[in-house]
Amino acid sequence: MNTKLSLSQLANDPSCMDDYDPNAMSVNQAREFIQQFLSPLSTSEKLGVMKCLGRVLATNIISPHNVPNHNNSAMDGFAFKFKEANKPLIIIGTAFAGQPFTGNINAGECIKIMTGAVIPDQVDTVVMQEHTKVANNLLSINKLPDQATNIRLAGEDIALGKTVLTKGHIIRPADLGLIASLGIGEVNVYPKLKVAFFSTGDELVGVGNPLNEGQVYDSNRYTIYAMLERLGVEITDLGIVPDKIELLENTLLKAARSNDVVITSGGVSVGEADFMKTLLAKYGEVLFWKINMKPGRPLAYGKVNIDAEYSAHYFGLPGNPVSTMVTFYQFVRDALLSLMGATPKSSPTFKVKCVDAIKKMTGRTEFQRGILFEENGELKVKTTGSQGSGVLSSMSKANCFIVLDESIGNCEKNTIVNVQPLEGLI
Ligand code: AMP
Ligand code: MG
Repeated sequence: MNTKLSLSQLANDPSCMDDYDPNAMSVNQAREFIQQFLSPLSTSEKLGVMKCLGRVLATNIISPHNVPNHNNSAMDGFAFKFKEANKPLIIIGTAFAGQPFTGNINAGECIKIMTGAVIPDQVDTVVMQEHTKVANNLLSINKLPDQATNIRLAGEDIALGKTVLTKGHIIRPADLGLIASLGIGEVNVYPKLKVAFFSTGDELVGVGNPLNEGQVYDSNRYTIYAMLERLGVEITDLGIVPDKIELLENTLLKAARSNDVVITSGGVSVGEADFMKTLLAKYGEVLFWKINMKPGRPLAYGKVNIDAEYSAHYFGLPGNPVSTMVTFYQFVRDALLSLMGATPKSSPTFKVKCVDAIKKMTGRTEFQRGILFEENGELKVKTTGSQGSGVLSSMSKANCFIVLDESIGNCEKNTIVNVQPLEGLI
């Protein structure tokens, strides 16, 4: 793909590029276009390790020590020199974890040793307690282990100077422990990405208010809030904005002025796109696409320019509640991860048998909602039923997307399909 074109070239002259048709974008094409305009935040901050869960590393973490930092016993038992084990050995002391044995171990001698205790230089093997007999302070070994057994070597877990975690890694629970195990107390991470969002639509009513005829409760702000919360970004909820140009303009500018990213739902489909389109043409460079996918056909991506110095990324999601979620997961999630400095990993898809027949048109990618279940030890999938883009209960019931690409048409029962589990994605 030509990566030289700017957003404004694409926004102002869609014919500037051969394979660019805003009215027939494939899912992958749209992903690639978005990716080329993203670069991670350029600053970083230093935080105490316990504050770093879910944050993105801004520098590599290099081990300043060997872990463990000394050879130590993997067992409670006795430490001795292997070549002397043919006769009983005099037990001359004990090594505890944290309390090394400091005496000299001469020929014919051994020490009692606890798990984690330092292995003195003069010995080379540990026998577990259960394989020994002690009488009159003399150790007899019933079952001789191989030489050098039961010893954890210095640097066995992590060697001094090794890159333990790389820039772009999202810090998980094990990593907090790993970083602490190196004696590192503070970590350089990217700042939290600031994301503002609002819902657009004259018909929308906030929870707690009565619903008149033709109105709907605003649910997208709740799902968007929740999906953002899972990503660990700093959230600003700007509420519901009716389809009035001045209100939309004020809210859009307020959002873009103090955030890295602005997300809206509703108002980007044909027919009602004009307000957002007019506004975004005035303040930014935004691409309005029709994507060959279901649900989630209309999508807008671009930048809202506040001044010469500052612009915010913009995602305009379709208003139908399932479309909002699907487009978030398929486009916005990875884009936000890239902006956060993280390296997005494609979420795993795998193949299973679908026990239901599926109606599907070729030429578009569908993300049907499915339920993975186990039957006779085999993982299978069924659909959640009605697949309308407004049927939010289908997302709530689902534990996976059934991903049917452009080449696939109607599927009979027991067809093998691709599924993408929601766990991990959400
Ligand atoms: P739009 O994309 O604005 O054309 O909206 C498409 C459909 O989604 C309409 O039926 C809207 O009422 C519905 N919708 C839009 N925004 C929301 C929202 N925030 N919560 C629930 N439904 C919505
Ligand atoms: Mg609308």
